[in-house]
Amino acid sequence: MSLSIVQTRANVGIHSLPVNVETHISNGLPSLSIVGLPETTAKGSRDRVRSAIINAQFEFPARRITINLAPADLPKQGGRFDLPIALSILAASNQIPGNTLHQYEFIGELGLSGELRPVSGIIPFSLAAQKASHTIIIPLENAKEASFCKKTNILPAKNILQICSHLHGREALINYLPQEPKPHYRLLPDLSDVYGQMHAKRALEISAAGRHSLLMIGPPGNGKTMLASRLISILPLLNDEEALELAAIHSISGKSIELNAWNFPPFRNPHHTASSIALVGGGNPPYPGEISLAHYGVLFLDELPEFNRHALEALREPLESGSITISRATQQAEFPANFQLIAAMNPCPCGYLGSQINHCACSPQQIQRYRKKISAPFLDRIDMCLEINPLPKNYFLKTNKEESSEAVRIRVKKARNKQFKKFGKFNHNLSGKLLEIACKLSTKDHKILETALEKFQLSMRSYHRILRVARTIADLSECEKIENSHLMEALNYRLIKK
Ligand SMILES: [Zn+2]
Repeated sequence: MSLSIVQTRANVGIHSLPVNVETHISNGLPSLSIVGLPETTAKGSRDRVRSAIINAQFEFPARRITINLAPADLPKQGGRFDLPIALSILAASNQIPGNTLHQYEFIGELGLSGELRPVSGIIPFSLAAQKASHTIIIPLENAKEASFCKKTNILPAKNILQICSHLHGREALINYLPQEPKPHYRLLPDLSDVYGQMHAKRALEISAAGRHSLLMIGPPGNGKTMLASRLISILPLLNDEEALELAAIHSISGKSIELNAWNFPPFRNPHHTASSIALVGGGNPPYPGEISLAHYGVLFLDELPEFNRHALEALREPLESGSITISRATQQAEFPANFQLIAAMNPCPCGYLGSQINHCACSPQQIQRYRKKISAPFLDRIDMCLEINPLPKNYFLKTNKEESSEAVRIRVKKARNKQFKKFGKFNHNLSGKLLEIACKLSTKDHKILETALEKFQLSMRSYHRILRVARTIADLSECEKIENSHLMEALNYRLIKK
């Protein structure tokens, strides 16, 4: 055979699309040309493949070799095509049998000695190959991650020689047996570690139940970070489908999810120096950002006003739509980003405004400038605002029993189930007609809300947010209708002291 085809895949966003590596060997001056790959990628691949073939004691054909990666217009990056290219050359030069290749898909970067190196984005690859009923032959180091797709038939290999022996039928590669993930909440920090702060814990429970975004404002050292980091301990586990989608995003960004964290909603807390690309994703080829790594989980932005304003503004769209589209000249990629936003900030630059223990040294202008760093449209997208105050001095002398995360999680789960049973979505996502039906108020309560809107100059968007939060509070109290107490509590989370 002087023509061969080997199957592999390229990642576009979180999808893995089929690529055929075609090799044709013809008479003529010895040469190797690769088409369908960007020039720099092709050059690296060419050198690695040549050395790997020679060092694995195969013959590198001294003829005219043309390799085509089809379809040509699909973006292809990295060393992931090394293995399929090398196998394609070996098949075209009759050094390995080509008649069984169609059952398999191959992926892996080659070292100069022929050993296989892991690649990123193995989960989307594994998932797509399984759907196409293909067995995958991949680097050993990628096997554990690939096995997150439980139905995929995986043959891991250490080097190209093992693969060739397998294809020759001399020594078969052994199927990878996946380990069962065993997530355990005991690995997470518990809400009972936080003393007092009943008001804040209540807000956290409401925000978890309806997936409402939450902003905590308070002096440093009052447990804002501690509270936020315990939010995932009160969230229900992800189902297998959600966990796999999340693992696929992490896989593309080159960060594998640990088996004992499988099914846990993610908690991401990027530093305030993070660029907007790091936050929402970008680059060429496009990579997912923190908002996508927080998919189905929590994105915590501590010191909110210190974040780059441009980066914060970029969050507005995904906060509403639950996904982000990154457009580049050569390609477009969409990543899911259905996250819950939790943010924290000090009340002023020094942090002690309103404190009874420390004196605030900031001028009114400094305070105004500090708060103005967050734009009104961004603030408008936050469902709940909460002031975190210091605990009373004698609090630690009392022996209060704090409620565990598990107890709260049971209530959160119940309230969430109620929302999905009735409307098929979180209260946070209610809009239009559904919002009207779900959040009907009594005439008296409606008047109260309208007066509050006027008095505090709240926007229409705020109006809807108050209704959604009130709906969640009613769900937590297992009430069909939103009652006055639910509305008043929801209003309370909207009105922050200036
Ligand atoms: Zn201050």
